[in-house]
Amino acid sequence: MKTLKDFNFEDKRVLIRVDFNVPLDADFNVTDTNRIEAAKPTIIKVLEDGGSAVLMSHLGRPKGIRNPDMSLGHICQTVSEIIGVSVKFVDDCVGEKAEKAVSELQSGEVLLLENLRFHAEETTGDVDFAEQLSRLGDIYVNDAFGTAHRAHASTTIVARFFPGQKCFGYLLAKEIEAIEKVMRTGEKPVTAILGGAKVSSKITIIENILDKVDHLIIGGGMTYTFVKAQGGLVGDSICEDDKMTLALEILEQAKAKGVAIHLPVDVLAADDFSNDAQTRIVAVNAIPDGWQGLDAGPVTLENFKAVILASKTILWNGPVGVFEMESFAKGTVAVGNFIDEATQNGAFSLVGGGDSVAAVKQFGFQDKVSYVSTGGGAMLESLEGRSLPGIAAILEP
Ligand code: AMP
Repeated sequence: MKTLKDFNFEDKRVLIRVDFNVPLDADFNVTDTNRIEAAKPTIIKVLEDGGSAVLMSHLGRPKGIRNPDMSLGHICQTVSEIIGVSVKFVDDCVGEKAEKAVSELQSGEVLLLENLRFHAEETTGDVDFAEQLSRLGDIYVNDAFGTAHRAHASTTIVARFFPGQKCFGYLLAKEIEAIEKVMRTGEKPVTAILGGAKVSSKITIIENILDKVDHLIIGGGMTYTFVKAQGGLVGDSICEDDKMTLALEILEQAKAKGVAIHLPVDVLAADDFSNDAQTRIVAVNAIPDGWQGLDAGPVTLENFKAVILASKTILWNGPVGVFEMESFAKGTVAVGNFIDEATQNGAFSLVGGGDSVAAVKQFGFQDKVSYVSTGGGAMLESLEGRSLPGIAAILEP
């Protein structure tokens, strides 16, 4: 795997695909700078080598139309402050203007291009558009994990114009290493904790992961499809009846593969899907009609704790309860605390995929786990075992 360390960028113009798709407030101030900070090490490496950096990104979904509200010009000042260099801006990402701005760039300088998605050719993966982008650098670096699952011009197609002159940035390399640890190289026992609302949205992950893990903890709304399939009473809990056969097949597959599955045994049930509902702890397979399981129960959490603390590699995707409501967030917070403890004891822990990161950030766990993925969809597809086009394009000669 070629990374930045394999290159010396002295006197090179380096075209870097970053993910600067950051939130802006009504006055166009950046309200969360995480993604810009995450790209900083790659940019600094290029500058310290004596090269110049040409940054390209999308912002929002302008759908091929030049929309001033989504101009990357709004974030130029913030990028300058974070990188510590006065960043130049050009109001297009291809064509004469962009090429002129690049040709005037000196070593140590940074140029930010205008929003890639002002051109519809970006998302369609247009080859001519990618070729035009490729004129803006001697070397191509992809450091945008959040878009690595898209075969867009700047994330994938452009790479073919840089044979032998392309690599992953530090951020993308870190994401790949984290996934590798969970999927292939991590110390055993390896445990995946899968929560969230539905079996149907996690099924491909479950099937892929059964070949990689020793323990699979299933929590959240998915629980009830498994419990009902085994003859349990789930009351009004969320349940996908059409996935019950699949649930039984997963349990069979897990047994055949020697994967221990851990399902909740008790739950915090509520008489309404509301924070103010009445609640009681009940057995997971004896939930009365009119009641629904909305969080993990105390015995369940003790069981989960034992498994998590004995693990050396941990993947966490999805909350084990309706964490958006305070009354049903305790299970998810507890799981976060167990992972924190395991990580302090030397385990490697990765959180990512879909909305998992929102839960982790809400409860302040982002600094307590080993790695929080920056790409929701890209991480989900990785966990499903799919090859990401943006990564494959760098690995090609
Ligand atoms: P996902 O995006 O698939 O990870 O699902 C996350 C959602 O699952 C969150 O919005 C949770 O509120 C929801 N969820 C977790 N547990 C339950 C449950 N027992 N019943 C209903 N929804 C749940």
